[in-house]
Amino acid sequence: MPNCTTFLDVNACNRSKTALIIPSRGEEYSTARLLDQVNRIGNGLHRIGIEAGDRVCIYLDSSPEYLISYFALWRIGCVAVPTNRVYREAELLYAVRDAGATAIITDTPGSVTAGKIRKEAPALREVIAVGGGEGATAWADLQGSSPYLRPAHCRFDELCQIQYTSGTTGRPKGAMLTHGNWIAAMDAEREVLGLTGDDTYLGIYPMGHVGVSWGISALRAGGSYVVMERFDLEPYLDLAERYRATVLAGMPPVIHSLLRSPPGTEKRLASARLMISGGGPLVPAVWRPFHERFGIPVVNAYGLSETIVVGTGTAIRPEHYTTADEFRSVGTPVGFSEVRIVDENTPERELSPHEIGEIALRGPSVAAGYWQMPEETASVFLPEGWFLTGDIGYLDESGMLFITDRKKDMIVMSGWKIYPTEVENVLMEHPGVRDVAVFGCNDEHRGEVPVAAVVPAEGGLTPEMIVTYAKEQLAGYKVPRKILIVDKLPRVNGWKLMRKVLREQYCPPRP
Ligand code: ATP
Repeated sequence: MPNCTTFLDVNACNRSKTALIIPSRGEEYSTARLLDQVNRIGNGLHRIGIEAGDRVCIYLDSSPEYLISYFALWRIGCVAVPTNRVYREAELLYAVRDAGATAIITDTPGSVTAGKIRKEAPALREVIAVGGGEGATAWADLQGSSPYLRPAHCRFDELCQIQYTSGTTGRPKGAMLTHGNWIAAMDAEREVLGLTGDDTYLGIYPMGHVGVSWGISALRAGGSYVVMERFDLEPYLDLAERYRATVLAGMPPVIHSLLRSPPGTEKRLASARLMISGGGPLVPAVWRPFHERFGIPVVNAYGLSETIVVGTGTAIRPEHYTTADEFRSVGTPVGFSEVRIVDENTPERELSPHEIGEIALRGPSVAAGYWQMPEETASVFLPEGWFLTGDIGYLDESGMLFITDRKKDMIVMSGWKIYPTEVENVLMEHPGVRDVAVFGCNDEHRGEVPVAAVVPAEGGLTPEMIVTYAKEQLAGYKVPRKILIVDKLPRVNGWKLMRKVLREQYCPPRP
């Protein structure tokens, strides 16, 4: 039976190779140095009483310490509880308390030791401070431990992570991920990107999100992972050029801003053979011109926290680029994943090609359920292994998947179903629109009505211009009843759209 997994199991054959690059700190880690640190931290955690099965929260910015924490915890049989550094106290407290974490690894120990978290999370015994701090165990102390670690014995079906969902539609749920889920996900990602030891991956996804898996997969394939803490166009281009990145992490807003970049930018991405996009819909108005201008195929990947992204999910790959229509699809299943469309009210009933229903996924990276949420678990993790994603879509006759929207975002106006993504795709085609979000506001007479928040590309765009355009392109009931011109849309880490924030901000309270 294999031990707890880390990327190192496969990669160990080339120990002197540069694995991790952190340009903001001018640091590089060879595989050997990374393994040394992982083992020391693992032993150090043991020394201060962290035991196999303990849940340990990680509250750091994307950094080597984040990855080292993941790997060390996995190797000693603990459960990593990654959180996002942008979390405020209440959000962090929710994760620490819900997971019953016994320790937290952070670079802001004061926010934990002095604040509410210490008082209101009774299971929390240890605060481990990267950079040190009063009342905390210093990371440097743990680094002084032995570099020889005997990994814990653990099974594929054993829990190694509680991954809180982004919470874009409600209270975050803790997806329970196992070692087996992770191993399958790394294999699936290697397959979909064709990763080898020659690849250099430029990563921008926050390490507290399952999107970090792309970087871990690159390491496991023997490649290098360049860490960018957050996206900014100029430094991104700089890093892609300097490190000759072959695989670029992207997301719809990143691809959009590359598209608006000055002529000549193409040369700076000359080493790139693939761009990843995921986490939200990539509209054809952005995708197609990006492909035409840069010639870099976008791997539009679809998955969730509950499936470790494409571990059990789908992706469009360069070989799918045959017809223009595919600029709307998220491709076909990856690895051992299976996809089917089921009736929203009777999930046992599978629908035929082109019939719209709920997307269900099955495969080796589907989480074991939600942490301490038996009812939510039973409602979406079905006994035959199918996981109901809450996304709406259809398959075409060749098995390509198309997402129309998320169940919870669907707007029902006087019985008419309106899919916000469809309306957004149309409005994005307007040359004056830089970004757009469509959401449903409650309405006394019609139940709900569609509202659009629009970020203009330049001054002069008026709500009337948008309405006129929408009326030419869309059936009357889909035309937003109200247009708001805004500076910015609420996105988690500049990425996932938070429609619920827009609803709270702009809709009248529900009666
Ligand atoms: P919560 O469930 O708490 O609201 P979340 O679902 O936003 O959080 P994630 O697991 O990070 O958290 O996001 C998964 C969702 O992101 C999917 O269900 C889907 O709606 C959307 N998504 C992911 N990839 C794509 C893609 N390539 N195209 C369109 N939508 C995508």
